[in-house]
Amino acid sequence: MKNNQNNIQFIIHRGSHQIGGNCVELATSNAKILIDCGLPLYFEEQPEETQEKIIEDAKGWTHNCDAIFLSHYHADHYGLFNVAPEGTKVYATKETAELMKISGVFGEDLTKHLDVRPIDGTVMVKDFRVTKFDVDHSAFGACAFLFEVGDKRILYSGDIRLHGKKACCIKTSPNKTWIISFWKGRI
Ligand SMILES: [Zn+2]
Repeated sequence: MKNNQNNIQFIIHRGSHQIGGNCVELATSNAKILIDCGLPLYFEEQPEETQEKIIEDAKGWTHNCDAIFLSHYHADHYGLFNVAPEGTKVYATKETAELMKISGVFGEDLTKHLDVRPIDGTVMVKDFRVTKFDVDHSAFGACAFLFEVGDKRILYSGDIRLHGKKACCIKTSPNKTWIISFWKGRI
């Protein structure tokens, strides 16, 4: 989306033609944000050169970004965080941040070299005002993010379902908003 006053460009790097491996970039003239950086499903079954390209792409997307927003604790949304530059800011719900740490007990914490910051409410990242909204999904602590620059608004739903204990959360999401949403399975 481009406009004259508050330019926001969004690029869906991956996730629009496949399930999982999501990565979306939002940018203004002086800020770059990534939302999720997931490992594509069936990564291990891909030829070596395909795997290398997936990793190199993620390195490029995470380079020089001001922050990465992580929607939830599923590898197809965070599985390439290990290639992000050291010290990159990562915003996630408190629950998701804790789960990332706990994953280090059983395997590898892919965010241990990153600056993980729990978000509960709204944060500012340069031009972007970002607000977290709880959503229902099969991952504890899953959320959507609303990105605002001036009067322009983009809602990234993450994975979302309309049933479950937090199904009512969808009613609190904002209207008059561009929506980037990835539906999976039964809604
Ligand atoms: Zn998910």
